[in-house]
Parts: sequence; C-alpha cells; structure tokens
Amino acid sequence: LHPRTQAAKESIFPKMSQLAQRLGAVNLGQGFPSNPPPPFLLEAVRRALGRYDQYAPPAGFPALREALAEEFAAEPESVVVTSGATEALYVLLQSLAGPGDEVVVLEPFFDVYLPDAFLAGAEVRLVRLDLTPEGFRLDMTALERAITPRTRLLLLNTPMNPTGRLFGEAELKAIARLAQKHDLFLVSDEVYDELYFGERPRRLRDLAPERTFTVGSAGKRLEATGYRVGWIVGPKEFMPRLAGMRQWTSFSAPTPLQAGVAEALRAARREGFYEALRESYRKRRDLLAQGLRALGLRVYVPEGTYFLMAELPGWDAFSLVEAARVALIPASAFYREDPPKDLFRFAFCKSEEELSLALERLALVV
Ligand code: GLN
Repeated sequence: LHPRTQAAKESIFPKMSQLAQRLGAVNLGQGFPSNPPPPFLLEAVRRALGRYDQYAPPAGFPALREALAEEFAAEPESVVVTSGATEALYVLLQSLAGPGDEVVVLEPFFDVYLPDAFLAGAEVRLVRLDLTPEGFRLDMTALERAITPRTRLLLLNTPMNPTGRLFGEAELKAIARLAQKHDLFLVSDEVYDELYFGERPRRLRDLAPERTFTVGSAGKRLEATGYRVGWIVGPKEFMPRLAGMRQWTSFSAPTPLQAGVAEALRAARREGFYEALRESYRKRRDLLAQGLRALGLRVYVPEGTYFLMAELPGWDAFSLVEAARVALIPASAFYREDPPKDLFRFAFCKSEEELSLALERLALVV
C-alpha cells in the first residue's frame, strides 16, 4: 500500500464506542446523542423515501441548498452539500492546500484535521491554546507567529471540540484581520453552531465573507449523526470548483436524507427546536459539571458543544473503561504530542440517567 495509508490509523472515537459496548460501559466517549432525532426529521425523511431515490446533483439537492442559503443569509450558489462535515473538510483541504503549503490549526483539535492536511500534502502548524485554571485561551500573538509566507489557511472550530470554547466577537475580528493581512483562507468548522450556552455567537463568515468557508452538519444540528449530511457555505466564485471536487469523493450525499433535512431545517426554526435543545444541553452540562466537581475533579465548563473537559488523575482511558465502565476520550486524541496530564473529554449528549450512572461509577474509582 502507498505510504499515505499511514493516515488509516484507526480513529479513537469508534474504537472507544466498540469497547464501551463490549464492556457494558456508559459511553461518554464518541459524540453522538443517545436520544432519537426529532420526529419532524424522521417524518420528513420517511416522506422523501420512494420519492427522491436517485442521485442528487453533486452540489446538493436544490431544496437543501435553498434552506441552507436562508440559514446563512447567502445565495443557494454559495452552498455545497457534502456527505457529512467530514467530507466537507476533506474536500476543503484538497482544494485549498497542497505540497509546500502550511495550514494553521489550533490545538487541541478534532482528530480529522491532521490526516486531511496530510492527505493534501500540506504541513500543519499547531497553535496550542493555553490551559489556565479559568479554561483554554487563544494567544493571538502566538497565532500570528505561526503564520509564514507558506501559510494558505487557518482552520478554526467554534464552538470548539473538545474544549467547548467559543470564540467571541473580539477574537473573531482579530482572526479576520490576521487573515486579511496575510491573505489567508479561513475554514470555520461550525458543526456545533446551534449549541452555545450564552449569547448567539457571531459568525466568522460575516466578518470575512470573501475568504471564509463555513462547515456545518445536519447530524450535529438535528441529532442524527448517521445521516451523513453536511455542508460548506463560502464565497460564491469558489463553490462550483468545490462541487466539482466532491464529485470524486462520494459524488453526492444521499438524496432522501438531503430532502428530509431540507424540510427539517425549516421545521427546526418554526418549532423552536434549537432553543429547546440548548436548554436540555445546559441542564445536562450542569448536571455533569456539578457531579464531577463534587467528586473533586477540576472541570473546564464549556461555552458551547456537548463536550466538557475535566482532569481525572491517575487513569488512562483504557484502564478506566475496564475498571469503572465509563468510556471517555483522553486528551491525547486531540494533541499531536505532549497532551496535558490527566485531561479527558466527556460527551454529555447522553440521557440524564446515563450521566448520573457514569457519575456513580466514577465515584467508586476516584
Ligand atoms: N465528532 C464526534 C466526536 O468528536 C466524532 C466523530 C467521529 O467519530 N468521527 O466525538
């Protein structure tokens, strides 16, 4: 096999899920909800089956491009639908960077960014967030120092997996200014865009529309991660080429699911689904954070996403899942080297019962 298949190293997320299942562990590892998706999504997909069963255009099912254009105050031509945000990121890296180019990524990072850059032949420059007792901080001077004449793009994730950080307006403006000054593209992974616990955050796209590609995910928004419907919203002039590129990966995303998602995105707004979702996640975040604090753990409370990081001294994730039957993702999955000691990611997109059970089990081993 070609040496590039070194990127085929198995991701820890499915590995941990399998282990959790085998051991009967509470799975706070891989980020997928344990509740079913909203009925309006299931009904819309059922209506689409038998009706929209053949290829969709590579750029996306027209009604979905229109629904997304409304969401992002863009034109349908600015939207390309992908098979999950994972494909969106792959296509973007293939399209924006190549050998000799550098990509700036914040660390800790979602695991997919590094193999995507590697497969594009580009080099990654990491900028590590400072971990202070108050949480993860981005040092703008460190970010600017990482930029060289070879830098092509800056890859950002907000709200951020795994830290739960969310970049505020001042930070986004500083990032947009840096991108302008150094003429960089911005890839903004916003799959958790509806999952924030304070004020609605600004979008990088609105601050630097000419250079920002926003990545999104129906799976994350509508609690159906298996549907594999994602999207890219970006400057109109580049989108036909991106649609062209994604022809050679999966050609098009599943048509009935795109049709179902198109309807469901509108229903979600109409029915106040995201407000209810945020409320329910805020409750679960607080339950988990308070429970872990009561066990004496240091907790970094997230501003968004359904992840929380906390320090659990003396364990590695593999012995912990055996001993406590609670599956977590170790910080090492999100760092290239030298991860902070004792740091784990807890997913709280699980039921309150599961979260309470996990806390009971952890109480026996801390
Ligand atoms: N986004 C999910 C997480 O961080 C996992 C996605 C995946 O398994 N590829 O847990």
